[in-house]
Amino acid sequence: MKYYEKNQIENWDKAIEEAAQVIRKGGLVAFPTETVYGLGADAQNEQAVQKIYVAKGRPADNPLIVHIAHKEDLMKIAKDISDWVLHVTEKYWPGPLSVVLNRREDFCSAASAGLSTVAVRMPDHETALALIERSERYLAAPSANISGRLSPTKGRHVAEDMREHADIILAQDDLVLGLESTVIDARGSYPVILRTGCVTCEMLAANVGRAEIYDAAAEKPLLPGMKYVHYRPRATVMIVDGNLEEKSEKIQNFLETEIKTGIFCSEKLSKNIQCKDVVTYRSLNEAAQKFYATLREFDEKGCRKILCEKVEQTGIGEALVNRMENAAEGRYL
Ligand code: AMP
Ligand code: MG
Repeated sequence: MKYYEKNQIENWDKAIEEAAQVIRKGGLVAFPTETVYGLGADAQNEQAVQKIYVAKGRPADNPLIVHIAHKEDLMKIAKDISDWVLHVTEKYWPGPLSVVLNRREDFCSAASAGLSTVAVRMPDHETALALIERSERYLAAPSANISGRLSPTKGRHVAEDMREHADIILAQDDLVLGLESTVIDARGSYPVILRTGCVTCEMLAANVGRAEIYDAAAEKPLLPGMKYVHYRPRATVMIVDGNLEEKSEKIQNFLETEIKTGIFCSEKLSKNIQCKDVVTYRSLNEAAQKFYATLREFDEKGCRKILCEKVEQTGIGEALVNRMENAAEGRYL
């Protein structure tokens, strides 16, 4: 495995070129995007895509997102594309929106895990785009973590999980979002959100006239990945909700009996808490950006419990609460 870190390498272009060659030869490259790190392979090379499944220990029925560098490439991969899909991809690409569409018969099925559909996204990151372009391939790329573990937002997280599997890791820790892309089912007459993300239901509804969040609890899992455990650290996570006073009290009471607890909360709440392992944020965006790295950090420190202050469910907060609830398996303090 080669580990190239952007701010320690003189010729980043050369590193990207080398990584592009690895892709062309059927190897695996981990690369940064604006959401989380991806583990990429040539989407039309079945053996290469298979390596991703092995590297992650990913269930064979969980499909991968195909990453492109030009909006027009969507037509070469998917078919039956409605006008509203062109409208939202025009608006949000490059960006954190993945669209699930019917796959063209002449596009390789390797990333689709047996489905007739395919998920496509154009990432908003110069290194990701350069890698896709230089390799002259489309990249099947899930998050670069072992299946069931937290998505990596730092190059060293990728190295921890993928040391033995990635041929090259392109490390550039400037990910601006920190949570995975919004995934929508784009086959119908309006978007159905399969996984929440930075592009919210309100944003999509404003553009298309109507949008819904798929209710996995009420209906059978539509998205194969939904039935699998995601985003979970080793420590037990609990969410803390209520007004400032209630939250402070709940946390203080908890800390009286529990040792080795990590707390992820707003700077405001942290002022009321006495605990040495506290990571704070000043905005929703900062909270999202720090979330996965903080959970990993608390795991590394040997924390047995992690308390996360619930954030406001607006904008990226909706996706962040979703990831928190997943990490906490729905537990509230
Ligand atoms: P990851 O690549 O780890 O960010 O996960 C990608 C997510 O997109 C998973 O939850 C997949 O199940 C979902 N996904 C990818 N392709 C499809 C597809 N063709 N149909 C439905 N969901 C998909
Ligand atoms: Mg993932």
